[in-house]
Amino acid sequence: MNGVEVAVVGAGITGLAVAREVRDRGRSVAVLERDGIAAGASGVQPGGVRQQWGTRIACRLARESVAFWREVDERLAARVPLALRSGGYLFAAEGEAALAGLEANVALQNEEGIRSRIVGPAEAADLVPGLVADAIAGGAWLGEDGYFDRPQAVVEAFAQGLDVRRADVGDLRRDGSGWRAGPVTADAVVVAAGVDTPALLATLGIELPIEAESRYLFFSDPIRERLLEPLVVAAERGFAAKQLADGRVLASDLSARGDAEAGRERWRATIRAASESLLPQLEHVSYPLLVHGAYDVTPDHQPILGPVDEGLFVAAGFSGHGFMIAPAVARITADAVEGRHDPALDLLGAGRFAAGRLVSESQLV
Ligand SMILES: Cc1cc2nc3c(=O)[nH]c(=O)nc-3n(C[C@H](O)[C@H](O)[C@H](O)COP(=O)(O)OP(=O)(O)OC[C@H]3O[C@@H](n4cnc5c(N)ncnc54)[C@H](O)[C@@H]3O)c2cc1C
Repeated sequence: MNGVEVAVVGAGITGLAVAREVRDRGRSVAVLERDGIAAGASGVQPGGVRQQWGTRIACRLARESVAFWREVDERLAARVPLALRSGGYLFAAEGEAALAGLEANVALQNEEGIRSRIVGPAEAADLVPGLVADAIAGGAWLGEDGYFDRPQAVVEAFAQGLDVRRADVGDLRRDGSGWRAGPVTADAVVVAAGVDTPALLATLGIELPIEAESRYLFFSDPIRERLLEPLVVAAERGFAAKQLADGRVLASDLSARGDAEAGRERWRATIRAASESLLPQLEHVSYPLLVHGAYDVTPDHQPILGPVDEGLFVAAGFSGHGFMIAPAVARITADAVEGRHDPALDLLGAGRFAAGRLVSESQLV
């Protein structure tokens, strides 16, 4: 069938979640993918899911999505258990300014119904065994935050039963009252092509401020001993770490950018220095594996959602958190395709940049 109601470009978590939602509402949908399911950022991301954010809209998208994630096995009828592991996220602050920022964000999160809280150094060290209490001024904590052990299995579960076709969509063209996207014609098209979204929409003269930004993850070999249960972020040091269920420690220098050959040892040194100061139990962990991926970054680190032309929609620019909010994005985008306007689009629509209405998110990883 080369005529469908909705064509989705991109088989990452976003495109697949949107397609599934559209299909579940009784419409015919095809997903067009150039390289393979989860060939982009969705195949790299380590499955982090959190509700600790610094803007109301980010809190809302996260909160709605967590309700889905809690029921993910039933909702996706997954063949393997997916189960979100809620081990908690600690955002540690070393200085008073960083702590004040976390306090403001926790107040906002609480107003949005998210039960995060500020913890003192001693409580932080109880929550994260091994953390050096003296090294921090305090932190923000939410025990519900966590991650999927096999995030790529989650992406694959979204793809089950969908019509996913191998096609490199070079351009989008009007076709009668609808669109032609690669091999299909459709009444509506959703572009969820990650870092490639701006290039595809530029063929129609639509400019979106989305830039590819290299990111790196360091992995240790599996370690039998449990060294680190909750995920710890120390933003002032540009450091984050967690231990996966299979025993590997995942650590990042959050400021790592550019060429891996040039930066690798410097980034390792950042991780080592942060471990020595904050989490000495990680001091002797080595990280033989370095994985590269790209964030699709917008100027305010919020996604661009909604219509960009008649029957043409975008869901991209996730700036490093598109996995965790995919369920809410899918609902909002499917509503938009049906002509229903979610209030989120007032904030996250493509028009916000020209209008100078940025919604800058501060609590980034
Ligand atoms: C290192 C790293 C860590 C991350 N950690 C997290 C995390 O813990 N939690 C979280 O929520 N998010 C995280 N993210 C972000 C998350 O991975 C992305 O926001 C999310 O995967 C975006 O999904 P997507 O479907 O929008 O894009 P992608 O997964 O990039 O998918 C886009 C797809 O479109 C296809 N495509 C592109 N152009 C075309 C075309 N012209 N025709 C056909 N197909 C096309 C591509 O091949 C690709 O498969 C992380 C990202 C990175 C890089």
